[in-house]
Amino acid sequence: MPSFASAPRRIWRQLARWPTRRLALWLALLLLVAGLLVTLIWLAGRYEADQIQVRVDRDVQDAGGDIRAGLTRNIQSLQALRTNPQQWQADAEELLRSRRELARLEWRDTSFKLIAKAQSPYLNNAQSPLNSRDAPYGDLQLACERARRQSGPMYAPSHFSPANIGQGFELMELCLPLMQSGQHQGYLVAVYGLQAILLEIVAKPLLRGQDFSFTEPDGTRLAIQGTARRGGRMFSGQHILDLPGNTIVLRADSWRVTPDLFPNVLTAVVTLMSIALIGVLILLGRDINRRLRAERELADALAFRKAMEDSLVTGLRARDMEGHIRYVNPAFCAMTGFSAHELLGACAPMPYWPPELIDEYQQRQAVRLSGHLPPREGYESMFMRKDGSRFSVLVFEAPLIDAQGTQSGWMSAILDISEQRRMEELSRASQERLQASARLATMGEMASLLSHELNQPLAAISSYATGTANMLAQPGSASVQDVSHALSRIASQAERAGKVIKSVYDFVRRRESKHEAVTAQSLLDAVMPLVQLQARKLSVQVQVGPLRGLPTVKIDRVMVEQVLLNLARNGIQAMEATSQAQRILYIRAKAIDTQWLEFSVSDCGQGITEETAKQLFTPFFSTKPEGMGLGLSLCRTVVEQHGGSLVFEPNPPQGTVFVFTLPVASTNMAHELPVADLQYGQAS
Ligand code: ADP
Repeated sequence: MPSFASAPRRIWRQLARWPTRRLALWLALLLLVAGLLVTLIWLAGRYEADQIQVRVDRDVQDAGGDIRAGLTRNIQSLQALRTNPQQWQADAEELLRSRRELARLEWRDTSFKLIAKAQSPYLNNAQSPLNSRDAPYGDLQLACERARRQSGPMYAPSHFSPANIGQGFELMELCLPLMQSGQHQGYLVAVYGLQAILLEIVAKPLLRGQDFSFTEPDGTRLAIQGTARRGGRMFSGQHILDLPGNTIVLRADSWRVTPDLFPNVLTAVVTLMSIALIGVLILLGRDINRRLRAERELADALAFRKAMEDSLVTGLRARDMEGHIRYVNPAFCAMTGFSAHELLGACAPMPYWPPELIDEYQQRQAVRLSGHLPPREGYESMFMRKDGSRFSVLVFEAPLIDAQGTQSGWMSAILDISEQRRMEELSRASQERLQASARLATMGEMASLLSHELNQPLAAISSYATGTANMLAQPGSASVQDVSHALSRIASQAERAGKVIKSVYDFVRRRESKHEAVTAQSLLDAVMPLVQLQARKLSVQVQVGPLRGLPTVKIDRVMVEQVLLNLARNGIQAMEATSQAQRILYIRAKAIDTQWLEFSVSDCGQGITEETAKQLFTPFFSTKPEGMGLGLSLCRTVVEQHGGSLVFEPNPPQGTVFVFTLPVASTNMAHELPVADLQYGQAS
C-alpha cells in the first residue's frame, strides 16, 4: 500500500507527465469551480443575512406598533379616571395594577401642585426613587404646559432615576391636561418605566431570541430587554417612536448563533454540494488518469501488435459476416501484390481469386459464411497475384470473436506454400531419378546373369538352326516334320529369350508413377523372373505363397516391385555362405487386418550384426564390395510413401526376415481364380 507521504509525490509525478495544455485546462477548471463555490457560499451567506435583517426590521416595526398601541390604550384608560379624589385613588391603583409598565400616577392642579398620587404595587418603596419626584421637574412642567396648550397628551424627555447603588430606572413621563366643560382643571401625570414598556407591551414572542432597547438618537442605550444569545454576528433594526413631545428610538439586536460559514441550511447544502462537487472532480480526475493509463497501455499494445503483424511472414486476413475484407496485414499484401487499400472492403469475387476458380471459391465462401467451421489443419487453395501468376496457399480459418463474445467474422492465416510445393516436386523428381538409377544399377548387376540366361536359348536356337541347315544340306535326310519340329523349337527358344529380355525391359523402363489396385499374385508374377535369375546363379530355392484370397493393395506397382526385388536379392546374396540344402528364400503375404497386407521376405543367410543394423537404412551403406548401399533406404522410402512400414528381425535359427506393410485397396477380397501355389523353378 502506498504511504501517505508518497501520495503528493505520486500526484506530482503524474502531473509532470501531463501535457501542458491539459494541465492548464485542469487548473482553469479547478479555479473556476473553486471560484464558483466561494461565490455560491458567499451569496448563500448574504441571502441568509438579508433574510435575518428583514426579519429583525419587521420585528422592530411590530414592536414599535405594539408600543404605540399600548401607549394609546393607556392614554384612553388615563382619561377615563374620575376626578373625585377618592375614586381617583382607587381607579389609579387599579390601573397601576393592570398596567405594569406604569410606575406612578399623579394628579396635579393647574398650578402643578400634587392633589393625589398612586404608585405601582410592583415597585417597593426601597426600589422606587419616584417618591423624590414630588417636586416637578422643568421637563415635565414644560411638557404639561405644551399639553395644556394643545389639549392633548404630551411626553417629557426620559430621564434616569437612580435607585439603589449602581441601579436605577429610565423613566418617561406623560402629561395629560384635565379639562372640564372647556375649563382647565389640572394635569394627570403618568410615569412609565422604559424597560417595563419593553417588557410588558412588546409581544413576548418578539422578545425571544433578540434584544429590544430604547436608545437616544445618538445611540445611547436607555433601556434594554430581551433574551438574545450572544453570537458572532449582530443584526440590528431601528424604529423611531415619534411620540408627542418626545422621540425615542426603538432598536432590536439579533445575534447569529451558528458559525458564520454555515449561516443556514441553504449555505450548508451549498457547501455540502460543493464538497461533493470537489469529490466528483477528484474522482473524475482519477478516472481520467486511469483512462490515460489505459490509453497508454492500449497504444503500447497496439504498437506491439503492429510490429508483430508487420514482422509476420504469415498473411492475415479478416472478413466480416458478409464476406467483406476488413483487415489484411503487410505479409498478405506482399503475397498477393495488392495494396491494403485495394483489398479492404473487397468482397467476392476477391481480386486474388483466379478467374477459373471463382465459382468454386464462391461456393466455399458461402459454406463458410453459413457458419461451417473449416478443418483445423487448414485447407489448400490457389491464389492469384496481381501480375496474374498463381501460387498455392494453405489457409487456416477461425471465427473472429469480438469483445462482447459474439462472432463478427472470420480470421484467416495464409501460408504461401508455392516454394514448398516446388521443392516437393523437385525432391519427387530426383527421388524418381534415383530409383531409376537404382533399377539400372540392379540391371547392370544382372547383365552377366542375363547373358548367361540368354546364352541357353540362343545356343539352342543356334544348334537347332545349324542342325536344320545340315539336314537341308543333305537332301533326303530331313523330313518336313523334322524341319518343322526344329523350327518350332527355334521359335519357342526365341520366345523364351524374348520373355527374358521383356521382363528386364519392363522393369527398367521408366513408367509414370500411379497408384493402382494390384493383387499380391500379379505383383510376385512381375518380379519372379528377375528373382529367379539371381536365385539360379546362387542355387537358391525360392518359395512363394500362399497368396490365394488376399485383398488387392493400392500401390505404385513399379516401386513396390523394386522393393520386393531388392529384398529378395539381398536375401539371396546373404545366403552365399549357407549350405546349399538350406538356401531357401521365402516370400509370403498375409492380411493383418482389413486395411493392411503384410509381405515378408525371409532368408537363411548370415543374419545382420548389431553394427550393421545401426546403419542398415543409411543411404550408401553397404558391406558388399560392389554394393551401392541404396537398396534398403529406397525400400523404406517407398513403403513409407504408401503409409506402411518396413522392419526386419532375425529369422531363427539363422537368417533375417524383412517385413513390410501395404494398404489394402478396398475391403472387398479380390476374387481371384484359385491358383495353385506357385513353385517357382528350383535353381538349376
Ligand atoms: P547393397 O545391397 O547395395 O549393399 P542395401 O541397402 O540393399 O545395399 O543393403 C545394405 C546392407 O545391408 C548390405 O550391404 C548388407 O550388409 C545388409 N543386408 C541387407 N539385407 C540383408 C540380409 N537379408 N541379410 C544380411 N544382411 C543384409
